[in-house]
Amino acid sequence: MVKAEGVHKSFGAVEVLKGIDLEVAPREVFCLVGPSGSGKSTFLRCINHLEQINAGRLYVDGHLVGYRQKGDKLYELKEKEVAAQRKDIGMVFQRFNLFPHMTALGNVMEAPVQVKGESRSAARDRAMTLLERVGLADKAKNYPTQLSGGQQQRVAIARALAMEPKLMLFDEPTSALDPELVGEVLDVMRDLAESGMTMIVVTHEMGFAREVGDSLVFMDGGVVVESGHPREVLTNPQHARTQAFLSKVL
Ligand code: ATP
Ligand code: MG
Repeated sequence: MVKAEGVHKSFGAVEVLKGIDLEVAPREVFCLVGPSGSGKSTFLRCINHLEQINAGRLYVDGHLVGYRQKGDKLYELKEKEVAAQRKDIGMVFQRFNLFPHMTALGNVMEAPVQVKGESRSAARDRAMTLLERVGLADKAKNYPTQLSGGQQQRVAIARALAMEPKLMLFDEPTSALDPELVGEVLDVMRDLAESGMTMIVVTHEMGFAREVGDSLVFMDGGVVVESGHPREVLTNPQHARTQAFLSKVL
């Protein structure tokens, strides 16, 4: 579903991704962990072409992200084509980023109506189904300020799912939440994983990684240091840097 080959990304003179190679299979829950500044968010943003990579190749669902290849040359896709690629990718951030002037239902309906041109009644029906799925049918008419952080994040997940993505990217979706609200968001993510969604999850929740993850990559300084099955990496890390990191978060 996702393939990275030698992905490099620099900001000015600072090289943040120094050749990332990895592969995410369909239906896989792929956990990405690493210290602050290691390039995790940057990598997720490259998958969405919110950042342009400087070298290497990134594929989503067999398609080159952001470019068309002719012979050896790459041509950047037009804004419209990039938008079409992004439709298949849902993203959930640390901050919930809901539209503040819209209800929970309005937030979930917005993209299908505006981007896909779905009728309001069809979008409303599907949005209600999604709110039910994240356990928030009774909060459909609440505005974001009338929802807890955990509820807002569940709305954000429903909103991403409304576009029927093939791939979901999560960037520390629970790290801005009070501890007692983390579980309800992880439960929704677990359900989503069980439904077969392909997910890349940047997280410090090692319990989730161990129980739900199919693979885990430890990244540091813009490189993949270690990867494997979450249980293996978490219980028997091979590299000193992985061991040092895990001793702090476990
Ligand atoms: P965290 O765990 O704190 O979220 P991260 O692993 O997600 O960290 P990134 O946000 O990807 O790390 O940042 C990696 C490095 O790239 C950091 O040194 C950051 O300062 C730098 N960086 C990220 N975005 C930009 C930008 N738009 N311009 C310049 N530098 C940037
Ligand atoms: Mg980050």
